[in-house]
Amino acid sequence: MADVHFDRVALIGIGLIGSSIARDIKALGLANEIVISTRSPETLKRAEELQLGSRYTTSAADAVEGADLVIVSVPVGASGTVAEQIAAHLKPGAIVTDVGSTKASVIAQMAPHMPPGVHFIPGHPLAGTEKSGPDAGFTGLFKGRWCIFTPLADTDGEALSRLKAFWEALGSRVDEMDPEHHDKVLAIVSHLPHIIAYNIVGTADDLETVTESEVIKYSASGFRDFTRLAASDPTMWRDVCLHNKDAILEMLARFSEDLAYLQRAIRWGEGDKLFDLFARTRDVRRSIIQAGQDVDTPDFGRHSLDKKP
Ligand code: NAP
Repeated sequence: MADVHFDRVALIGIGLIGSSIARDIKALGLANEIVISTRSPETLKRAEELQLGSRYTTSAADAVEGADLVIVSVPVGASGTVAEQIAAHLKPGAIVTDVGSTKASVIAQMAPHMPPGVHFIPGHPLAGTEKSGPDAGFTGLFKGRWCIFTPLADTDGEALSRLKAFWEALGSRVDEMDPEHHDKVLAIVSHLPHIIAYNIVGTADDLETVTESEVIKYSASGFRDFTRLAASDPTMWRDVCLHNKDAILEMLARFSEDLAYLQRAIRWGEGDKLFDLFARTRDVRRSIIQAGQDVDTPDFGRHSLDKKP
Protein backbone atom coordinates (compact mmCIF):
# COMPACT_ATOMS: atom_id res chain seq x y z
CA MET A 1 0.00 0.00 0.00
CA ALA A 2 1.21 3.51 -0.82
CA ASP A 3 2.76 5.56 2.00
CA VAL A 4 0.29 8.27 3.08
CA HIS A 5 2.68 9.96 5.49
CA PHE A 6 4.70 12.97 4.28
CA ASP A 7 7.65 14.60 5.97
CA ARG A 8 6.74 18.16 5.01
CA VAL A 9 3.45 19.35 3.50
CA ALA A 10 3.09 22.91 2.18
CA LEU A 11 -0.42 24.34 1.98
CA ILE A 12 -0.72 27.33 -0.35
CA GLY A 13 -4.06 28.99 0.45
CA ILE A 14 -5.66 28.37 3.81
CA GLY A 15 -9.36 29.07 3.31
CA LEU A 16 -12.23 26.61 3.69
CA ILE A 17 -10.50 23.84 1.72
CA GLY A 18 -6.86 24.44 2.72
CA SER A 19 -7.71 24.74 6.41
CA SER A 20 -9.88 21.60 6.32
CA ILE A 21 -6.94 19.70 4.80
CA ALA A 22 -4.64 21.14 7.51
CA ARG A 23 -7.03 20.08 10.27
CA ASP A 24 -7.29 16.54 8.85
CA ILE A 25 -3.51 16.19 8.39
CA LYS A 26 -3.00 17.23 12.02
CA ALA A 27 -5.79 15.05 13.38
CA LEU A 28 -4.59 12.01 11.44
CA GLY A 29 -0.85 12.65 11.91
CA LEU A 30 -0.17 12.52 8.16
CA ALA A 31 2.86 14.86 8.18
CA ASN A 32 5.80 15.75 10.42
CA GLU A 33 5.52 19.38 9.41
CA ILE A 34 2.75 21.55 7.89
CA VAL A 35 3.93 24.80 6.34
CA ILE A 36 1.15 27.27 5.68
CA SER A 37 1.21 30.11 3.19
CA THR A 38 -1.42 32.65 2.24
CA ARG A 39 -1.01 36.02 0.56
CA SER A 40 -2.51 38.26 3.26
CA PRO A 41 -0.96 38.77 6.71
CA GLU A 42 -4.49 38.86 8.21
CA THR A 43 -5.43 35.36 6.99
CA LEU A 44 -1.97 34.06 7.93
CA LYS A 45 -2.35 35.44 11.47
CA ARG A 46 -5.75 33.78 11.77
CA ALA A 47 -4.31 30.43 10.59
CA GLU A 48 -1.62 30.76 13.26
CA GLU A 49 -4.18 31.62 15.95
CA LEU A 50 -6.11 28.50 14.94
CA GLN A 51 -2.82 26.52 15.13
CA LEU A 52 -3.40 24.98 11.73
CA GLY A 53 0.28 24.37 10.95
CA SER A 54 3.83 24.23 12.21
CA ARG A 55 5.26 27.18 10.24
CA TYR A 56 3.65 30.24 8.60
CA THR A 57 4.74 32.54 5.77
CA THR A 58 3.22 34.93 3.25
CA SER A 59 5.76 33.69 0.69
CA ALA A 60 4.54 30.70 -1.33
CA ALA A 61 8.10 30.24 -2.62
CA ASP A 62 9.51 29.90 0.92
CA ALA A 63 6.67 27.58 1.93
CA VAL A 64 7.41 24.94 -0.72
CA GLU A 65 11.17 24.70 -0.01
CA GLY A 66 11.85 21.09 0.96
CA ALA A 67 8.16 20.08 0.88
CA ASP A 68 7.28 16.55 -0.30
CA LEU A 69 3.65 17.45 -0.92
CA VAL A 70 2.37 20.87 -2.03
CA ILE A 71 -1.39 21.51 -2.08
CA VAL A 72 -2.56 24.67 -3.83
CA SER A 73 -5.99 25.80 -2.57
CA VAL A 74 -6.55 29.24 -4.08
CA PRO A 75 -9.25 30.55 -6.48
CA VAL A 76 -8.68 28.91 -9.88
CA GLY A 77 -7.82 32.24 -11.52
CA ALA A 78 -4.80 32.57 -9.21
CA SER A 79 -3.33 29.09 -10.00
CA GLY A 80 -0.95 30.30 -12.72
CA THR A 81 0.54 33.06 -10.57
CA VAL A 82 1.08 30.64 -7.65
CA ALA A 83 2.69 28.04 -9.97
CA GLU A 84 5.04 30.71 -11.30
CA GLN A 85 5.97 31.79 -7.76
CA ILE A 86 6.73 28.29 -6.48
CA ALA A 87 8.26 26.65 -9.59
CA ALA A 88 11.95 27.36 -8.94
CA HIS A 89 11.67 26.39 -5.27
CA LEU A 90 10.08 22.94 -5.59
CA LYS A 91 12.02 19.95 -4.31
CA PRO A 92 12.82 17.32 -6.97
CA GLY A 93 10.39 14.42 -6.57
CA ALA A 94 7.78 16.59 -4.82
CA ILE A 95 4.08 16.04 -5.54
CA VAL A 96 2.23 19.24 -6.45
CA THR A 97 -1.55 19.10 -6.50
CA ASP A 98 -4.45 21.54 -6.39
CA VAL A 99 -8.11 21.47 -5.36
CA GLY A 100 -9.54 23.83 -7.99
CA SER A 101 -13.13 23.44 -9.17
CA THR A 102 -12.12 23.61 -12.85
CA LYS A 103 -9.40 21.42 -14.29
CA ALA A 104 -8.51 22.19 -17.95
CA SER A 105 -7.82 25.84 -17.11
CA VAL A 106 -5.80 25.01 -13.98
CA ILE A 107 -3.66 22.56 -15.99
CA ALA A 108 -3.12 25.17 -18.73
CA GLN A 109 -2.06 27.69 -16.08
CA MET A 110 0.11 25.47 -13.86
CA ALA A 111 1.64 22.67 -15.98
CA PRO A 112 3.94 24.89 -18.08
CA HIS A 113 5.67 26.11 -14.90
CA MET A 114 6.31 22.67 -13.37
CA PRO A 115 10.00 21.68 -13.51
CA PRO A 116 11.03 18.20 -14.67
CA GLY A 117 11.16 15.70 -11.80
CA VAL A 118 8.21 17.30 -9.98
CA HIS A 119 4.94 15.35 -10.07
CA PHE A 120 2.05 17.69 -10.89
CA ILE A 121 -1.28 15.92 -10.31
CA PRO A 122 -4.41 18.09 -10.61
CA GLY A 123 -7.24 17.20 -8.24
CA HIS A 124 -10.67 18.35 -7.11
CA PRO A 125 -12.38 17.29 -3.87
CA LEU A 126 -16.15 17.49 -4.34
CA ALA A 127 -16.76 18.79 -0.86
CA GLY A 128 -17.43 22.22 0.52
CA THR A 129 -19.85 24.66 2.04
CA GLU A 130 -20.92 28.22 1.22
CA LYS A 131 -18.45 29.55 3.82
CA SER A 132 -14.89 30.71 3.19
CA GLY A 133 -11.70 31.53 5.11
CA PRO A 134 -9.67 29.54 7.66
CA ASP A 135 -12.42 29.61 10.30
CA ALA A 136 -14.83 27.87 7.91
CA GLY A 137 -12.81 24.64 7.63
CA PHE A 138 -13.38 21.56 9.76
CA THR A 139 -12.06 18.03 10.19
CA GLY A 140 -13.95 15.42 8.25
CA LEU A 141 -15.10 17.72 5.41
CA PHE A 142 -13.93 15.19 2.83
CA LYS A 143 -15.31 12.07 4.50
CA GLY A 144 -17.47 10.06 2.07
CA ARG A 145 -17.00 12.69 -0.66
CA TRP A 146 -15.39 12.13 -4.05
CA CYS A 147 -12.00 13.48 -4.96
CA ILE A 148 -11.42 13.49 -8.73
CA PHE A 149 -7.94 13.45 -10.24
CA THR A 150 -7.23 14.52 -13.79
CA PRO A 151 -3.68 13.16 -14.30
CA LEU A 152 -1.58 14.29 -17.23
CA ALA A 153 -0.41 11.83 -19.90
CA ASP A 154 3.03 11.53 -18.26
CA THR A 155 1.88 11.43 -14.61
CA ASP A 156 3.98 9.06 -12.52
CA GLY A 157 1.88 6.09 -11.37
CA GLU A 158 3.57 5.81 -7.98
CA ALA A 159 3.07 9.50 -7.17
CA LEU A 160 -0.59 9.23 -8.21
CA SER A 161 -1.11 6.17 -5.97
CA ARG A 162 0.47 8.04 -3.06
CA LEU A 163 -1.74 11.09 -3.56
CA LYS A 164 -4.85 8.91 -3.89
CA ALA A 165 -3.93 7.08 -0.68
CA PHE A 166 -3.52 10.46 1.05
CA TRP A 167 -7.04 11.56 0.04
CA GLU A 168 -8.43 8.17 0.99
CA ALA A 169 -6.87 8.65 4.43
CA LEU A 170 -8.92 11.89 4.63
CA GLY A 171 -12.00 9.72 4.01
CA SER A 172 -12.48 10.55 0.33
CA ARG A 173 -13.46 8.21 -2.44
CA VAL A 174 -11.15 8.72 -5.41
CA ASP A 175 -11.78 8.72 -9.13
CA GLU A 176 -9.98 9.68 -12.33
CA MET A 177 -11.22 11.57 -15.38
CA ASP A 178 -9.79 13.53 -18.23
CA PRO A 179 -9.91 17.27 -17.51
CA GLU A 180 -12.43 18.18 -20.23
CA HIS A 181 -14.82 15.49 -19.04
CA HIS A 182 -14.43 16.68 -15.44
CA ASP A 183 -15.28 20.23 -16.51
CA LYS A 184 -18.43 19.10 -18.33
CA VAL A 185 -19.64 16.92 -15.45
CA LEU A 186 -18.98 19.67 -12.91
CA ALA A 187 -20.68 22.26 -15.11
CA ILE A 188 -23.98 20.40 -14.69
CA VAL A 189 -23.66 19.06 -11.12
CA SER A 190 -22.12 22.13 -9.50
CA HIS A 191 -21.56 25.18 -11.66
CA LEU A 192 -25.03 25.44 -13.22
CA PRO A 193 -26.88 25.01 -9.89
CA HIS A 194 -24.81 27.83 -8.41
CA ILE A 195 -25.42 30.09 -11.42
CA ILE A 196 -29.16 29.38 -11.27
CA ALA A 197 -29.15 30.14 -7.53
CA TYR A 198 -27.24 33.41 -8.05
CA ASN A 199 -29.73 34.32 -10.77
CA ILE A 200 -32.92 33.53 -8.86
CA VAL A 201 -31.73 35.25 -5.69
CA GLY A 202 -30.64 38.25 -7.77
CA THR A 203 -34.06 38.42 -9.46
CA ALA A 204 -35.83 38.19 -6.10
CA ASP A 205 -33.57 40.91 -4.73
CA ASP A 206 -34.54 43.14 -7.64
CA LEU A 207 -38.23 42.38 -6.94
CA GLU A 208 -37.76 43.14 -3.25
CA THR A 209 -38.53 46.80 -3.90
CA VAL A 210 -41.88 45.69 -5.37
CA THR A 211 -42.78 43.15 -2.71
CA GLU A 212 -41.17 45.06 0.18
CA SER A 213 -40.00 42.58 2.82
CA GLU A 214 -42.11 39.65 1.65
CA VAL A 215 -39.24 37.88 -0.15
CA ILE A 216 -37.41 37.45 3.15
CA LYS A 217 -40.51 36.95 5.31
CA TYR A 218 -41.91 34.07 3.24
CA SER A 219 -38.54 32.69 2.07
CA ALA A 220 -39.12 29.25 3.64
CA SER A 221 -41.50 28.46 0.75
CA GLY A 222 -38.51 27.46 -1.43
CA PHE A 223 -36.48 30.59 -2.03
CA ARG A 224 -34.44 29.97 1.13
CA ASP A 225 -32.97 26.76 -0.30
CA PHE A 226 -31.39 28.75 -3.16
CA THR A 227 -29.92 31.38 -0.84
CA ARG A 228 -27.39 28.95 0.66
CA LEU A 229 -25.80 28.31 -2.76
CA ALA A 230 -26.08 31.99 -3.66
CA ALA A 231 -24.13 32.90 -0.49
CA SER A 232 -21.04 31.11 -1.82
CA ASP A 233 -17.75 32.97 -2.19
CA PRO A 234 -18.00 35.58 -5.01
CA THR A 235 -14.30 35.38 -5.93
CA MET A 236 -14.30 31.61 -6.19
CA TRP A 237 -17.45 31.56 -8.33
CA ARG A 238 -16.40 34.45 -10.55
CA ASP A 239 -13.26 32.44 -11.33
CA VAL A 240 -15.18 29.19 -11.90
CA CYS A 241 -17.45 30.97 -14.44
CA LEU A 242 -14.51 32.57 -16.25
CA HIS A 243 -12.42 29.37 -16.25
CA ASN A 244 -15.06 26.84 -17.30
CA LYS A 245 -16.71 29.13 -19.81
CA ASP A 246 -17.31 26.67 -22.68
CA ALA A 247 -18.81 23.84 -20.63
CA ILE A 248 -20.98 26.26 -18.62
CA LEU A 249 -22.29 28.00 -21.75
CA GLU A 250 -23.09 24.60 -23.29
CA MET A 251 -25.03 23.51 -20.19
CA LEU A 252 -26.79 26.90 -19.94
CA ALA A 253 -27.98 26.58 -23.55
CA ARG A 254 -29.41 23.15 -22.77
CA PHE A 255 -30.97 24.45 -19.56
CA SER A 256 -32.65 27.35 -21.41
CA GLU A 257 -34.17 24.94 -23.95
CA ASP A 258 -35.57 22.74 -21.19
CA LEU A 259 -36.90 25.79 -19.35
CA ALA A 260 -38.71 26.87 -22.53
CA TYR A 261 -40.33 23.39 -22.67
CA LEU A 262 -41.52 23.84 -19.08
CA GLN A 263 -42.74 27.34 -19.82
CA ARG A 264 -44.79 26.07 -22.78
CA ALA A 265 -46.27 23.22 -20.74
CA ILE A 266 -47.40 25.70 -18.08
CA ARG A 267 -48.79 28.12 -20.68
CA TRP A 268 -50.84 25.42 -22.46
CA GLY A 269 -51.96 23.66 -19.28
CA GLU A 270 -50.10 20.43 -20.16
CA GLY A 271 -50.33 18.88 -16.71
CA ASP A 272 -49.11 15.43 -17.85
CA LYS A 273 -45.81 16.88 -19.08
CA LEU A 274 -45.32 18.75 -15.81
CA PHE A 275 -46.22 15.71 -13.71
CA ASP A 276 -43.89 13.40 -15.67
CA LEU A 277 -40.93 15.73 -15.26
CA PHE A 278 -41.57 16.33 -11.56
CA ALA A 279 -41.88 12.56 -10.92
CA ARG A 280 -38.60 11.92 -12.79
CA THR A 281 -36.73 14.56 -10.79
CA ARG A 282 -38.02 13.17 -7.51
CA ASP A 283 -36.39 9.85 -8.48
CA VAL A 284 -33.07 11.66 -8.96
CA ARG A 285 -33.27 12.85 -5.36
CA ARG A 286 -33.92 9.27 -4.19
CA SER A 287 -30.86 8.04 -6.14
CA ILE A 288 -28.64 10.68 -4.49
CA ILE A 289 -29.75 9.53 -1.05
CA GLN A 290 -29.22 5.88 -1.99
CA ALA A 291 -25.69 6.76 -3.18
CA GLY A 292 -24.93 8.19 0.28
CA GLN A 293 -24.44 11.75 -1.02
CA ASP A 294 -27.19 13.18 1.21
CA VAL A 295 -29.52 12.12 3.99
CA ASP A 296 -33.27 11.88 3.80
CA THR A 297 -33.93 14.22 6.71
CA PRO A 298 -35.09 17.75 6.12
CA ASP A 299 -32.18 20.04 6.89
CA PHE A 300 -30.97 23.49 5.87
CA GLY A 301 -31.30 25.00 9.30
CA ARG A 302 -34.83 23.75 9.77
CA HIS A 303 -33.92 21.68 12.83
CA SER A 304 -32.53 24.60 14.79
CA LEU A 305 -35.26 26.94 13.53
CA ASP A 306 -37.98 24.45 14.44
CA LYS A 307 -36.63 24.22 17.98
CA LYS A 308 -37.06 27.95 18.53
CA PRO A 309 -40.15 28.83 20.59
P1 NAP B 1 -11.41 30.50 0.43
O1 NAP B 1 -11.96 29.96 1.70
O2 NAP B 1 -11.95 31.81 -0.08
O3 NAP B 1 -9.80 30.66 0.60
C1 NAP B 1 -9.04 31.12 -0.49
C2 NAP B 1 -7.57 31.09 -0.16
O4 NAP B 1 -6.87 31.51 -1.34
C3 NAP B 1 -7.13 32.06 0.94
O5 NAP B 1 -5.98 31.58 1.59
C4 NAP B 1 -6.79 33.32 0.13
O6 NAP B 1 -5.78 34.12 0.71
C5 NAP B 1 -6.18 32.73 -1.11
N1 NAP B 1 -6.32 33.61 -2.26
C6 NAP B 1 -7.42 34.30 -2.65
N2 NAP B 1 -7.16 34.99 -3.77
C7 NAP B 1 -5.87 34.75 -4.08
C8 NAP B 1 -5.01 35.21 -5.11
N3 NAP B 1 -5.46 36.04 -6.07
N4 NAP B 1 -3.72 34.79 -5.12
C9 NAP B 1 -3.26 33.95 -4.15
N5 NAP B 1 -4.03 33.49 -3.14
C10 NAP B 1 -5.31 33.89 -3.12
O7 NAP B 1 -11.54 29.48 -0.76
P2 NAP B 1 -11.85 27.89 -0.75
O8 NAP B 1 -13.32 27.69 -0.62
O9 NAP B 1 -10.94 27.24 0.20
O10 NAP B 1 -11.48 27.52 -2.26
C11 NAP B 1 -10.16 27.26 -2.64
C12 NAP B 1 -10.15 26.46 -3.93
O11 NAP B 1 -10.88 25.26 -3.70
C13 NAP B 1 -10.80 27.14 -5.12
O12 NAP B 1 -10.04 26.88 -6.28
C14 NAP B 1 -12.14 26.44 -5.26
O13 NAP B 1 -12.55 26.40 -6.62
C15 NAP B 1 -11.83 25.06 -4.73
N6 NAP B 1 -12.96 24.34 -4.13
C16 NAP B 1 -13.84 25.01 -3.32
C17 NAP B 1 -14.92 24.32 -2.76
C18 NAP B 1 -15.92 25.04 -1.88
O14 NAP B 1 -17.04 24.55 -1.68
N7 NAP B 1 -15.59 26.19 -1.33
C19 NAP B 1 -15.07 22.95 -3.01
C20 NAP B 1 -14.13 22.29 -3.79
C21 NAP B 1 -13.07 23.00 -4.36
P3 NAP B 1 -6.04 35.44 1.56
O15 NAP B 1 -7.22 35.20 2.46
O16 NAP B 1 -4.74 35.58 2.30
O17 NAP B 1 -6.28 36.54 0.58
